[in-house]
Amino acid sequence: MKELIIDLKNQILQEIKDVKEKDKIEDIKVKYLGKKGKFTSILRNMSSVSKEERPKIGELINISKNEIEEKINEKIEIFNKIELEERIKRETIDVTINKKIVNIGHRHPLNQVKEELENFFVSMGFSVVDGPEIETVENNFNKLNSPLDHPSREMSDTFYIDKDLLLRTHTSPVQIRTMMSTKPPIKMVSAGRTFRFDEVDDTHSPMFHQIEGLVVDENINMSNLIDTLNTFIKEFFGKDMKTRYRPHYFPFTEPSAEVDVSCFNCKGKGCNVCNGTGWSMELLGCGMVHPNVLEACGIDSKKYSGFAFGMGIDRITMVKHKINNIRLLYDNDKRFLEQF
Ligand SMILES: [Zn+2]
Repeated sequence: MKELIIDLKNQILQEIKDVKEKDKIEDIKVKYLGKKGKFTSILRNMSSVSKEERPKIGELINISKNEIEEKINEKIEIFNKIELEERIKRETIDVTINKKIVNIGHRHPLNQVKEELENFFVSMGFSVVDGPEIETVENNFNKLNSPLDHPSREMSDTFYIDKDLLLRTHTSPVQIRTMMSTKPPIKMVSAGRTFRFDEVDDTHSPMFHQIEGLVVDENINMSNLIDTLNTFIKEFFGKDMKTRYRPHYFPFTEPSAEVDVSCFNCKGKGCNVCNGTGWSMELLGCGMVHPNVLEACGIDSKKYSGFAFGMGIDRITMVKHKINNIRLLYDNDKRFLEQF
């Protein structure tokens, strides 16, 4: 009996060792250890074993059965491990295979510069205000102290929708709207599209972009204006940039000035870009808000004063990125836009 058990056990262990497929190991389990299995049936023949031998044989059967079960479980573990490894191998992603090239869009250089300008003025305590592109003649000209015979009012310079409405020729009407709706102190900038009846050439387009700023409070004077703009130019374009204020005429400011900045190419030494002058001309327009403009918006010009400034975002973008043709900003040529 003892030999029979040991032989059978060794036979089963060898079969387990030789098994090559996971399904077969389950078969072995059923074949020997199942209810009708060969090993189980030995227990039924215990009647032929003497009473003295029975406990020993019983113990041997249990130990052998445990050993067989242990080997079966070990084998199952091995199969599971192999299966997992194969699955990992199969499902591993090779990132270098089938690389898809995805073109991600990005912001237009004009919008980038507009945002940089807005962010700068926000850092100086200005708020950003938006206004409509279709404006009233009242806000675009009348309230800005523009004489009735001013050439900019001509049909040849302005896109009129009807006698009262037009496409705004500058962002200044947003200043009017702000002064009409807000009590001083006011400190705002507004950027956006503006429209003029211009022929397209290297530096002109009938649609372009401006940013304007306005500060209104008690005791605001010209030195506040110059200090603000000098800080802006040095911070935005570089510490070594110089400024030059030339007297000018705008209907809505008095006194008014145009601001030149050191040539971006030669930083003031003189080169062919600046025709040897060392200056980038007419980068900004500015001045003290005309008392008539303040009064037209219901602000007491004896108590309050203000300054305003404006500049072309297209021009700033062009000098900043050394672009010599404004058409490039509107052609939407990817080869151009992808450089920014
Ligand atoms: Zn130069």
